[in-house]
Amino acid sequence: MRFCSTKDSRVSVSFTEAVSRGMAQDGGLFIPAEIPRCPRGFLRSIGGLAFPEISFEVARLLLGGEIPDADLRRIVGESVTFDAPLHRLDESTVVLELFHGPTLAFKDFGARFMARMMAYMHRGDRGEHTVLVATSGDTGSAVASAFHGMPGVSVILLYPSGRVSQIQESQLTSLTGNVTALEIAGTFDDCQRLVKLAFADREIAAGRNLTSANSINVARLLPQTFYYFNAFARLGEMSGEIVFSVPSGNLGNLTAGLIAWKMGIPVKRFIAATNANDVVCRYLETGVYEPGRALTTLSNAMDVGDPGNLPRIRALFNDDIEAIRKAVYASPCTDDQTREAIAEVFLRHRYVLDPHGAVGYSALGRYRAATGGAFTGILLETAHPAKFIDVYDPVVRGSIEVPGRLRDLLGGEKHSVKLPARFEEVKAFLMGA
Ligand SMILES: *Cc1c(COP(=O)(O)O)cnc(C)c1O
Repeated sequence: MRFCSTKDSRVSVSFTEAVSRGMAQDGGLFIPAEIPRCPRGFLRSIGGLAFPEISFEVARLLLGGEIPDADLRRIVGESVTFDAPLHRLDESTVVLELFHGPTLAFKDFGARFMARMMAYMHRGDRGEHTVLVATSGDTGSAVASAFHGMPGVSVILLYPSGRVSQIQESQLTSLTGNVTALEIAGTFDDCQRLVKLAFADREIAAGRNLTSANSINVARLLPQTFYYFNAFARLGEMSGEIVFSVPSGNLGNLTAGLIAWKMGIPVKRFIAATNANDVVCRYLETGVYEPGRALTTLSNAMDVGDPGNLPRIRALFNDDIEAIRKAVYASPCTDDQTREAIAEVFLRHRYVLDPHGAVGYSALGRYRAATGGAFTGILLETAHPAKFIDVYDPVVRGSIEVPGRLRDLLGGEKHSVKLPARFEEVKAFLMGA
């Protein structure tokens, strides 16, 4: 399969090239040059296949034979090592739980596949690769966990000191070995700036083989299609029409859903559920794209003012906004509505949504009210509620089961290197470490 730039469909590269480059040279993002259609037989028999098997078949279609089947099967098998089960709330609403991975958020799917794919691509290389990432929370821990213990790779994370939650900090600083957390006295924007400077620096490039684990890498995007197929498989034929509600920030998850739909899973509509950072909602309403500064909300992993994957969605639809509107309904959610959704689901179903899933639930309710009609709403639950324990009132908090791997972390030792938000210091560290 060729991958082309969202800025120019004539620019195309192989999958592995797209993975190593991260971004196209013209500043566009890579998307599959064509979306492959699933063979009918695959969709008809999908109910009998297990999640890793479904994932392999989907990856095989998307990569179009570039990686030999046996290797790809192993890479997928080592990435999809935990389930994405469905939890039924009522006859017409189902939660797709994406938080059963090592760091309890859906970012584990993308990060693990990318890590294994990169290890495969660099097999036989002599030198050591350094993955350098700036993180405000979920991404860094998923990436660190995915590369942890992998030979030939070291991971350096930059996070803003005092600006991530205690649980996030424990996740970022618990690993040793090939993972180093740099605690930067500054903001997330400082961390991102320092990473960019490091990538642009010739001396660092000469001394270290830097790799980006950027969220816009195709190796993170493609595996997110797997669980849409798996949800369709587990739901069975009897579900009627399906609407996916996707808690959205950078729009990677939604983009993957749209790709899965174009590949052939029958979906009535997608809901782009945002918090107060509603750029995509306004874009669909007015047709004008106006990025803004990110506002802080309860669902902080979706606090994005300039969603990076929107160019991919536009390219998938040939920039036809009417076609995007037909496929995607967008609805923003306030923090009050997020709290209401958490309370409602807890009272009605004794189920605790995390703040991101709650945004999705709230939007699903508005979509039902606006459109009517019978369908099964599948809500993507993107993180485990225990990651956001501060958000809940004591009653709800008391009923959250904190997974063992999170409990162990909280008592654990913190491993970090404190540095000021100055490039000279970060550079000295990178050259010396
Ligand atoms: C990253 C993240 C999101 C947003 O996903 P996008 O693909 O960026 O739209 C939602 N929920 C959680 C918990 C996340 O970590």
